[in-house]
Amino acid sequence: MTRTLLGFRAAAPAALVLAVAAGVTIHAQQQRPPQPPERMVARTPTPAKPGEVGVLPVQGNIYLLNLGDVNIVVQVGDDGILLVDSGPADWSERIAQTLRDRFGNRPLRYIVNTHMHPDHVGGNAPLARFGRPGGGDAGGGGGGGGNQGARIIAHENTLNRMSGTTEGETEQPQEMLPTSTFFTEKKEIYFNGEPIEILFQPAGHTDGDVMVFFRGSDVIAAGDLFSTASYPILDEKRGGTIQGYLDALNRILDITVPRFNEQGGTMVIPGHGRLCDAADVAYYRDMVTIIRDRVQDMIKKGMTLEQVKAAKPTRDYDSRYGADAGSWTTAMFVEAVYRDLSQRRIN
Ligand SMILES: [Zn+2]
Repeated sequence: MTRTLLGFRAAAPAALVLAVAAGVTIHAQQQRPPQPPERMVARTPTPAKPGEVGVLPVQGNIYLLNLGDVNIVVQVGDDGILLVDSGPADWSERIAQTLRDRFGNRPLRYIVNTHMHPDHVGGNAPLARFGRPGGGDAGGGGGGGGNQGARIIAHENTLNRMSGTTEGETEQPQEMLPTSTFFTEKKEIYFNGEPIEILFQPAGHTDGDVMVFFRGSDVIAAGDLFSTASYPILDEKRGGTIQGYLDALNRILDITVPRFNEQGGTMVIPGHGRLCDAADVAYYRDMVTIIRDRVQDMIKKGMTLEQVKAAKPTRDYDSRYGADAGSWTTAMFVEAVYRDLSQRRIN
């Protein structure tokens, strides 16, 4: 009896040791998955209930408005209100109501469009008309608005696409269109006591993206040149490229100054996802760089798109950024990177 028991007991740990050893061997052959910065867990999204506008004070004059899965940015002060992006069309009334509730009758003077996608410009017409959060009529105008309400600022490429001037684009209604455009690398305005830099970033997400740097508040509104919700979305038909997107992330990192130990300091608001700092952007930049390099290596080896997809160059990041369904899947991302880098190859 005792012998049997002992024998049984002896067998079990031996099997366990074997299993563990095998597991360790298998594990050691895999690359250790990169770990995100720890504070990514700590900084949770805005406290919005489904369908409600979430408001998150960021720092200085800046607030993040969360509209479901889209963010817009508010700068507010004595001069009035500036918005970065106007959100999807069906959120306009809720946005206007939130501005009124939180910031009183301050006039809405500016809307900056980071790019032309409908979830970022859908509220242009109603919000620019709304102009004055008090709901009153023009009553003197002044400032940037004039009798049209808020001025809508965008890069010229964004206007050209929205106005249908660019081939293949559909013309949008006149009142949706940016009223103040620029074609240089940077446009500067001074509003609510701080300098604001509107920075053109070519060929990243589209060919007309800008990010907005609030120099006094020390906040960057990155639009869709940064995301914590997905892999980089490359709108290839509209000039998006992986290298342009990486350039944008590096430009953000050039501007950001961490406060302590890579944390805090300049805050970065993505078009989709949660509030971030330099460490979060650096993690994302490193991820994009690693995947770009992997796909580049595979192309150099002569691998086809199907072979590259089968090799899963994104595997260790899929649990965080991947998607099997929806408007931007992992497969679509890998395909876009492959096409872009294949076309770029010089040899
Ligand atoms: Zn977009």
